[in-house]
Amino acid sequence: MKIRLAAYLQPDSIVDGEGIRTVIWTQGCPHHCFGCQNPETWDFDGGAEVEIDEVKRIIDGLKGQDGITFSGGDPMMQPAACAEIAKYARSKGLNIWCYTGYDYETLLKLAKTKKEYMDFLKQIDVLVDGKFILEQKTFNAIFRGSSNQRIIDVPASLKNNRVELVKKYLTKKPYSNRERVTGVYI
Ligand code: SF4
Repeated sequence: MKIRLAAYLQPDSIVDGEGIRTVIWTQGCPHHCFGCQNPETWDFDGGAEVEIDEVKRIIDGLKGQDGITFSGGDPMMQPAACAEIAKYARSKGLNIWCYTGYDYETLLKLAKTKKEYMDFLKQIDVLVDGKFILEQKTFNAIFRGSSNQRIIDVPASLKNNRVELVKKYLTKKPYSNRERVTGVYI
C-alpha cells in the first residue's frame, strides 16, 4: 500500500500536538478553507506517493519522539494507509494525533459505510477536528487554529458514544516560554 505525502516526515515538532512529535504531512484536501496555511497540500495529484513500508522504516529510525501527528492536507482522505502507519507507530510506543477538516460526527457517519475510517479512528489518541475558519482564528488556544476546532479524546469518545474533549486544553492559554523550550504542555 502507498500513501500520498506532501513532504518528508518532519520530526521534532512541538506545535502539532503535545510533546515532541513527528508530523506526517498527507497530500490532498477537499475542504479548501479560506486562509489555509498549506494550500499546496490540496491537490490530490500533488506531492508524491510513498510506500507504507518506507514510512515504517523512517519511523524505525526516529529518536526522542513522543508521538506521530497526521496533518496535511486531510489525513482522512487516506484512512486505510494512515491506519496502517498509526498502528505501526503505536506498536513502537508512539501516541497518535490527527488533524482533519471533517468534524467527528461526520467521520462516524463515514465509518458506517467505510470500515477504514473506524480502523483509523481507533488508532488515534487525539483528534483536532473541523475546518479552519478565518473569522474564528485564535491565538488564545494551543494546538488549533480557529476556535470552532475541537481537541477530542478519541478513545473516550468512542467508549462513551459522545464527544469527549481533552479537558486540559480547554482553558489552556498560549504557550509559555518554558513550554516552547521544553515541548511539555501540562
Ligand atoms: S482542512 Fe486543513 S489543509 Fe484542508 S483546507 Fe482546511 S486548513 Fe487547509
